Amino acid sequence: MSACRMVVWLLVSLWSGVVAAAELRDVRLWASPDGTRVVFDLSGAAHHNVFALQNPDRIVVDLEQVDPAGVRVANAATGKGLVQRVRSAARGDTGVRVVLDLTQPVDPRSFALAPNDQYGHRVVLDLDRPVATQLPSTPGPLPSPQMTLDDKPVIVAVDAGHGGEDPGARGRSGVYEKDVAMAMARRLARMIDAEPGMRAVLTRDGDYYLGLRQRVEIARKHQADLFVSVHANAFRDPKLRGSAVYVLSNRGATSEHARWLAQRENAADLVGGIEIADKDGDLASVLIDLSQSATMEASFDVGSRILKSMGQVNTLQKSAVQQAGFMVLKAPDIPSVLVETAFITNSEEERMLRDEKHQERFARSMLAGIKGYFASYRPQQQIVRGELQQVSYRE
Ligand SMILES: [Zn+2]
Repeated sequence: MSACRMVVWLLVSLWSGVVAAAELRDVRLWASPDGTRVVFDLSGAAHHNVFALQNPDRIVVDLEQVDPAGVRVANAATGKGLVQRVRSAARGDTGVRVVLDLTQPVDPRSFALAPNDQYGHRVVLDLDRPVATQLPSTPGPLPSPQMTLDDKPVIVAVDAGHGGEDPGARGRSGVYEKDVAMAMARRLARMIDAEPGMRAVLTRDGDYYLGLRQRVEIARKHQADLFVSVHANAFRDPKLRGSAVYVLSNRGATSEHARWLAQRENAADLVGGIEIADKDGDLASVLIDLSQSATMEASFDVGSRILKSMGQVNTLQKSAVQQAGFMVLKAPDIPSVLVETAFITNSEEERMLRDEKHQERFARSMLAGIKGYFASYRPQQQIVRGELQQVSYRE
């Protein structure tokens, strides 16, 4: 190519890059207790502007350099959560205006996400309920001075992995990890609630995205004594199978597979749209190291009990508790385990994960491990808590 033709070619490609309109491919809505997320799937990067209008409450999203044919896609979307209705119109020749009619005023937040394994370009709009109007999430009974230690139930935070636009792993029949995890987590929570002296808190109870740190925060807000994250494993080799239990490691993983798995599970925040970088940096990790040594022992204890009882309902992938740097296990003060119930990429285990009887068996075996753990750890832990509470009541 001559220099002159090269320049012309460059100019043409630059120019066409500017005017090439992205296609609006889908508009997806997810409702959570705190708000509603609207995701615009696009074939390429696009500028967007968001503003709120009142009387009636609505949000306007202008997508620039987007093919007006996208109006049809937007108009086909149905309202969910705080969004009553989605309507749209062309904005000149190179844009789409989307109007979201709301059920109440919201705090809007928007950002663009670059393509990843699962999705292409996205514009994400989070519509949060203003804090004053947020629904009360079912809080645990507040500790009262009259309460004796025996009255206070132990709280188990049951965390269904993934959710919403983060489907997690996918089985060959099309079943998603987020759905089987939710099903097993709900079963486990029901079983826990049926036990005297035990109460469950689900970190999510529906199909919506929840950041990894938010999951830990919910557990902490409810003063959970234990955090159990329920997942289904995946691997490119469909022969790989078996249950496995993980606890946190800040110093490298016990195996290559554990490291790979932690990376995959941590990527939930990349899919869901929260930056994974630890803003507190090194100091935070030192603090976690120090305060976690006590809870690590407890995490290993409950982890091995769960693993042992899971061995009675499924083959075990690993006969010992594994360690890796899972983001969701980083609650320094709450013993935490992550259970990979079975491989969704193994056809036999995929069938088990979908089957209600097997879901029940997995949940029942996790419960057995949890009960065994509290039978040995409960007294010590509660005495410590009780003393702390008494101190604060005197103030
Ligand atoms: Zn997972």
